[in-house]
Amino acid sequence: MSSTLRFQIVGEAFKKRPVEVPNRKERPSEFFAKYVFNRQKMQHYLPSNVYKKMCDVIDGGAALDMATADAVAAGMKKWAMELGATHCTHWFQPLTEGTAEKHDGFVEHDGKGGMIEEFTGKQLVQQEPDASSFPSGGIRSTFEARGYSAWDPTSPVFVFGDTLMIPTIFISYTGEALDYKAPLKKSLKAVDEAATAVARYFYPDVNRVVSNLGWEQEYFLVDEGLYAARPDLLMTGRTLLGHDSAKNQQMDDHYFGSIPMRVAAFMKDLEIKALELGIPCKTRHNEVAPNQFELAPIFEETNLAVDHNMLIMSLMKKVARKHGFRCLLHEKPFAGINGSGKHCNWSLSTNNGILLHGPGKTPLDNLRFVTFIVESLMAVYRHNGLLKASIISATNVHRLGASEAPPAIVSSFLGKQLSDLLEHLETSTDDELIQLSGKQTLSLDIPQIPELTQDNTDRNRTSPFAFTGNRFEFRAVGSQQNCASAMIVLNTAMAEALTDFRVRVDALIAEGIEPMKAILRIVREDIKACKPIHFDGNGYSEAWKQEAARRGLDTETSAPIILDQYLKPETVEMFSRMNVLTKAELEARNEIKLDTYIKKVQIEARIFGDICMNHIIPVATRYQTQLIDNVHRMKQIFPADVADPLNSTNLSLIKQMGEHNTFIIENVERLIEARRVANRIKDGRERAIAYHDTVAPLIEEIRYHVDHLELIVDDELWPLPKYREMLFIH
Ligand code: ADP
Ligand code: MG
Repeated sequence: MSSTLRFQIVGEAFKKRPVEVPNRKERPSEFFAKYVFNRQKMQHYLPSNVYKKMCDVIDGGAALDMATADAVAAGMKKWAMELGATHCTHWFQPLTEGTAEKHDGFVEHDGKGGMIEEFTGKQLVQQEPDASSFPSGGIRSTFEARGYSAWDPTSPVFVFGDTLMIPTIFISYTGEALDYKAPLKKSLKAVDEAATAVARYFYPDVNRVVSNLGWEQEYFLVDEGLYAARPDLLMTGRTLLGHDSAKNQQMDDHYFGSIPMRVAAFMKDLEIKALELGIPCKTRHNEVAPNQFELAPIFEETNLAVDHNMLIMSLMKKVARKHGFRCLLHEKPFAGINGSGKHCNWSLSTNNGILLHGPGKTPLDNLRFVTFIVESLMAVYRHNGLLKASIISATNVHRLGASEAPPAIVSSFLGKQLSDLLEHLETSTDDELIQLSGKQTLSLDIPQIPELTQDNTDRNRTSPFAFTGNRFEFRAVGSQQNCASAMIVLNTAMAEALTDFRVRVDALIAEGIEPMKAILRIVREDIKACKPIHFDGNGYSEAWKQEAARRGLDTETSAPIILDQYLKPETVEMFSRMNVLTKAELEARNEIKLDTYIKKVQIEARIFGDICMNHIIPVATRYQTQLIDNVHRMKQIFPADVADPLNSTNLSLIKQMGEHNTFIIENVERLIEARRVANRIKDGRERAIAYHDTVAPLIEEIRYHVDHLELIVDDELWPLPKYREMLFIH
């Protein structure tokens, strides 16, 4: 009987002990990046002229010639083979959200009937994986199956298991991006150029600006036996049914609590592997929900940080299995408790170490600080709908606006000090603020700015884009998403804002206005312009929804309609002006995102229907029959006037179950029909809207009844592991 199976699985899960954790004697500093072909390894394995050329390629964007590529490949091969690598692969990030790889052995005929190990510059630099099975949004019709993957030398290659992994971009035969990395790199270039020009007003020595990203990865761990017994988790990554556990997170006893032993063993194992791969893991802790945890590294340059996040997600899943867990990266695996996000801490800094989003010591630094903050707000204000579109998905929608995550309206929290400062600047006059003493010195009447770095206590968890001392924290990103999607929009929008800023400042300077005064004037203008995006209040309140709409912010909640943002004229204009994505590429992205949305909801609806009919209804009916049996027997042994009152509670349960069963069966039929109707719709956008409006809500409606049955049916008969089991066994 199924119940016994569930009890067995629960028993097994409960008994599990931590597996042996490799107890490394070396310190992390000694094994950090052991498997990464970083500069130190390059210097050791490459001839010095080749090493120098590679540095030019990486730092200065110089072109890579074939002779250099061959020499680099030779050094890489030697290093990788010493670590036991036998294969290599181009590792890329298609629009499916995960990563893709196709391994090739280092083998070649030696011409004498034997084999030699070979790895050439050509193999390193470019490959042509069959692209026909990756989403392309109509960019590449299936008869033109070729796509190119091309090496990204700014993200170092690494050895994973027996394979040399080469981070690459992935583009179509005709040059359109089929991945996240290609446009990400273009957006980073755009923001570098725009920000460098603006930074030079303040510091003429700046010649490069990099975008930084520090992600915080949240995840759940569930015992793998329990996971395997839940078809919904297995197929969709979330529980489509399951009643709340009587105790969940209301005691606030999990957040920062002591880490359970088996979980600690997993974390340690994971961290060692991540550190060896050059991921600078720093923070680990229990998150708010039971069995929810977080891992955060030290921030890095955005392109590398994105690669590291993709790598850690796949590493987490692999290491979890070794410890008898499954790692859930879904944004909302369990209803009623917190979901998982991936806060993206974002800032810009210069090649000479100035953090552009951080306050400084001198008045000049502070004007620079205000400039970059205000232009960030301009960027987010102008493209708030698009920024939301960059993180919307069939899975993340379950998390947004729930009690732990930012609402589906993008706004920015600044805190009291920064708000006061901007208000002060806005209402000030040139004379009040600037006392020119001598040539370029400038004194701003802005007290207390250096203390802004201490402003960490003034946290507002409901804000999607919060200023946190020396960076912005974009909190709407979903736990399983590729952060590149949001980073492409954010960095491109910033590049656009800074470009426009410079044009206006230069126009004033051309009129003969002193540069700092010109900057201040434009900053003041923009403080006024971007005001609607600034909101320090409670983002969950009903009042905010109305207020945000009044302010003209995007308040749309339907995912398919939010995705229209990719096609809006201002989006197309921004991406083409900044040379990041063409109109055709944007149309493709929009199409792929709609398609992914449809498929996710479609799969959920199918699995859910099956579980209802094959797991829930049979068990509920069986229990109902037992009760009916009992009622009959009571009638047999007692006279009616005694039996009837005794039977009343069972009769009521029988009736309740009958109602739930009927609702479920009838509505699973409706669910199937809704899918059928939606599937017949030709237009992708309309089909996605149908899935959103008719299919998705039905799942939730039916779930209500299933979850009530769970409360009635004999625990021993219930076939699926319950919330209290999945969430409290570790
Ligand atoms: P929180 O209190 O928000 O949970 P964490 O310490 O978990 O903070 O994570 C903060 C993340 O932000 C880390 O990855 C950290 O390296 C990163 N970070 C810190 N300063 C900056 C910055 N200036 N720019 C980008 N990321 C930063
Ligand atoms: Mg954070």
